[in-house]
Amino acid sequence: MTDGTRSERTHDDTPSGRTAVVIGGGLAGTTAALALADAGVRVTLLEGRPRLGGLAFSFQRGDLTVDNGQHVYLRCCTAYRWFLDRIEGAALAPVQDRLDVPVLDLAKPEGRRLGRLRRDPLPVPLHLGRSLAAYPHLSLAERAGVGRAALALKGLDLADPSLDAQDFGSWLAAHGQSARAVEALWDLVGVATLNAVAGDASLGLAAMVFKTGLLSDPGAADIGWAHVPLGELHDRLARKALDSAGVRTEVRTRVTSVSTNENGTWSVQVPGETLTADAVVLAVAQREAYDLLPAGALDAPENLLEIGTAPILNVHVVYDRQVLTKPFFAALGTPVQWVFDRTRASGLREGQYLALSQSAAQDEIDTPVADLRGRYLPELERLLPGARGAGVRDFFVTRERTATFAPTPGVGRLRPGARTKASGLYLAGAWTATGWPATMESAVRSGVSAADAALRTLGRPRPRRLFEFEEAA
Ligand SMILES: Cc1cc2nc3c(=O)[nH]c(=O)nc-3n(C[C@H](O)[C@H](O)[C@H](O)COP(=O)(O)OP(=O)(O)OC[C@H]3O[C@@H](n4cnc5c(N)ncnc54)[C@H](O)[C@@H]3O)c2cc1C
Repeated sequence: MTDGTRSERTHDDTPSGRTAVVIGGGLAGTTAALALADAGVRVTLLEGRPRLGGLAFSFQRGDLTVDNGQHVYLRCCTAYRWFLDRIEGAALAPVQDRLDVPVLDLAKPEGRRLGRLRRDPLPVPLHLGRSLAAYPHLSLAERAGVGRAALALKGLDLADPSLDAQDFGSWLAAHGQSARAVEALWDLVGVATLNAVAGDASLGLAAMVFKTGLLSDPGAADIGWAHVPLGELHDRLARKALDSAGVRTEVRTRVTSVSTNENGTWSVQVPGETLTADAVVLAVAQREAYDLLPAGALDAPENLLEIGTAPILNVHVVYDRQVLTKPFFAALGTPVQWVFDRTRASGLREGQYLALSQSAAQDEIDTPVADLRGRYLPELERLLPGARGAGVRDFFVTRERTATFAPTPGVGRLRPGARTKASGLYLAGAWTATGWPATMESAVRSGVSAADAALRTLGRPRPRRLFEFEEAA
């Protein structure tokens, strides 16, 4: 960090003469910083860790570049796609041409069975009709029941706040869904997107995910994922975009307090420096936001502490040969949830590197590596015949205990919007009131909302390209 007066000194050479400090260099903060800078505000972005990207990052393990957790997004994630475009990273995280998810089931006594969830080039809901009708992991009656429940879900009004008070599991049961239908279809998608099983999830959030992803536009659920390490997108390319937008980015810079001044400006304290700005965006996780919020900024700040968290575990296995020919698959009848081939993205030259993404991992988040190895390697051998004689070159796990906020019933009333009661102070983060579960999409949307609110207060016009994703939605 430089001396403590830099942001005051630079007021005059800013096109608008307006300044903002964004705290937190995850996707929410990076988005807010880019959006404000694009509108002519002079922005300083402060991140406590040595890198940008927040919860979606990469690290080195020898020659391997590893993501802390497999991340995917859907075509309907228009804000995150806008973000990828804005940092010039869209080509590195492409969306599949058409939804196609191989689903391997190990539950049948006769051995593993492959099904597919894919779409046809037909209007909603016919686009999934053929796939559902042929889905081998459900009985005929269950498939028909799923169709009826999907139509009932489509009829729910997402603006109805009572949906958030109910749990999705009970709603599914009340709509005739068997335990098997929940496991083989609703949870298959829901656990990965909500980070909770149906019984633990808010009906409002679940309905939002399924309506938007499966029942809006035919291509909405086509899956996209980074074909490079996440750090390449969320750190290196994001940093490049911030630099060219004129944002001053400081990593390894932890904010210790935020306070308002008599003249209406804000002071942001970091070790050895006080920054002054016209607006502050607090884009940190809910608990850290609670610690930094000045008194009176929210009516019920204690709500932030009531928002729970949920873990995600990733199990990483490097084989000495190729054991999987598909880019990814989902599994049933085994503890394994979703498996991705990360070989090329990680830089591995020989063999194959698979990442197992295990959401809602409350039961395993503290399990020792040796036990996880004993559990998952045999399961992979059951799923992938090619793994049976293969050598395991490396096995390790990454644990994110607070990967997402817990999407429990009632969480909606706890999530604050971007505006606070303190003029010039805004909140961002996947956990704020975006209507989305804790996703990259929610993070980017929250960053846009915070920047939008700040720009209104600062009297700056919204840059048009910032809101292009709303039109694409
Ligand atoms: C393993 C895993 C898998 C996931 N899978 C998916 C997926 O498949 N699809 C998907 O869409 N989403 C997924 N997510 C969720 C997604 O990563 C998050 O919702 C999103 O990245 C959150 O971004 P954010 O900016 O809101 O918060 P964060 O990423 O938490 O960013 C907050 C930043 O603030 C910084 N900070 C905190 N306090 C301070 C301070 N005092 N001073 C300065 N800086 C501070 C932190 O270091 C952090 O970088 C996954 C998450 C994990 C962990």
